[in-house]
Amino acid sequence: MTPPIRTRFAPSPTGYIHLGNIRSALFPWAFARKHGGVFILRIEDTDTERSTSEAVDAILGAMEWLGLDCDEGPYFQMERMDRYRAVIADMLARGLAYRCYMTPAELEQLRAAQMARGEKPRYDGRWRPENAVDNTPPSGIAPVIRFRNPVGGGVAWDDAVKGRIEIANDELDDLVIARPDGTPTYNFCVVVDDLDMKITHVIRGDDHVNNTPRQINIFRALGADPPVYAHLPTVLTPEGEKLSKRHGARSVLQYRDDGYLPEAVVNYLARLGWAHGNDEIFSREQFVAWFDLSGLSSSPGRFDSDKLKWVNQEHMKRLPEDELGRRLVPFLERAGLDVNAGPAPGPVATLLRDRIATLTEMADAAHYFYATPHPARETLAEYVADGRRQALADLAAEFATLDWRRETIGTALKAAAGRQGLKPPQVMMAMRMLVCGTPQTPAIDAVLTLLGRETVRARLAAGLENVD
Ligand code: GLU
Repeated sequence: MTPPIRTRFAPSPTGYIHLGNIRSALFPWAFARKHGGVFILRIEDTDTERSTSEAVDAILGAMEWLGLDCDEGPYFQMERMDRYRAVIADMLARGLAYRCYMTPAELEQLRAAQMARGEKPRYDGRWRPENAVDNTPPSGIAPVIRFRNPVGGGVAWDDAVKGRIEIANDELDDLVIARPDGTPTYNFCVVVDDLDMKITHVIRGDDHVNNTPRQINIFRALGADPPVYAHLPTVLTPEGEKLSKRHGARSVLQYRDDGYLPEAVVNYLARLGWAHGNDEIFSREQFVAWFDLSGLSSSPGRFDSDKLKWVNQEHMKRLPEDELGRRLVPFLERAGLDVNAGPAPGPVATLLRDRIATLTEMADAAHYFYATPHPARETLAEYVADGRRQALADLAAEFATLDWRRETIGTALKAAAGRQGLKPPQVMMAMRMLVCGTPQTPAIDAVLTLLGRETVRARLAAGLENVD
């Protein structure tokens, strides 16, 4: 029986998490979900100088918002120090690792000599047990601990994204696995964790490809088979730079606050490194059902904020009316609007969503549904001149008893225009200004229907009085 699939997301809690970072959570999450496996969150916080609890909170918040639920964790590497130390002690005892007493000055000397000979700088193995039989450990020097990398032969793996990768062992130094103060190093902790957490598939950014052969050698030394590796190409900016804070990448939660739907962000990020035929818009469920490592792309995706907006709009169009309305509410409230002072948000959202890409923009555009607009007198006067004023006055009177439906309202608008020898759009524009305070609204008959007779009549009366 094959063991259950176990994947992990292993972020370092430094800085804030942006879309490029969280994409490395999306694929292992989807892979675990697809196969009924286990998705683990592991916080790699051994860089104590740069790790912060705010960054941890931002990671947890981003995952929660995007619905990337984990089954185990978060584990924190700083809480596993005893375990790493125990493994190091065991490796020393079994001759898989050794103490190296080279000083930084000696290392620098070695480096310089190798460079002068045109060689690649690398540790020369002088403290390997087989080379150091005659060496007496110098006093007063705290040693580092190095992994005894195999000599000769090579390391190879079939990367699920990049295909077969092979590295000669002679290219690999004896990796430092513990610093002079005894703290374990990053590459080592990752192996112990992936081993202890029984990770079957490591799906991560390809900035870790160089670490992989070293990690595989440690796995094997510990008597374990390495997991399957899938290295995801980096996300680039439209200009082809690595997506980063410096290049304007915003934090994941900023997209939540800017009115993006989590399902749209998941969809967009998934497409940024993976494809299922030509499907551009899909639900989270479809993504999980369709996800396969073979669909991962080996070329880097480019972040495109216009496309993200488009994907967001497509998801807004697909949401049931009530649900979209429910999601709009907090944005209306944030805009200072009283949701109870106007129509139900669902139908308002349905009316607006054809031309609007985010919930923030939607709340902006919905302003006149929940607050009385106060267009400037001069602006009003421009729109409500000559026959248009009479047409609006007629409509104001007619609206008192009109059967309040979109069709009858539309017919009344056209008839009132006709009686004044005007084109319907002239009257409709004037109506927009007077009732909504803006010339830009969806179909005015639909807007008036939603606003309701009382509100429309009150605003018409106030507006007409204002231009008198
Ligand atoms: N902590 C690493 C990072 O944030 C990821 C390590 C891994 O996935 O193996 O880049």
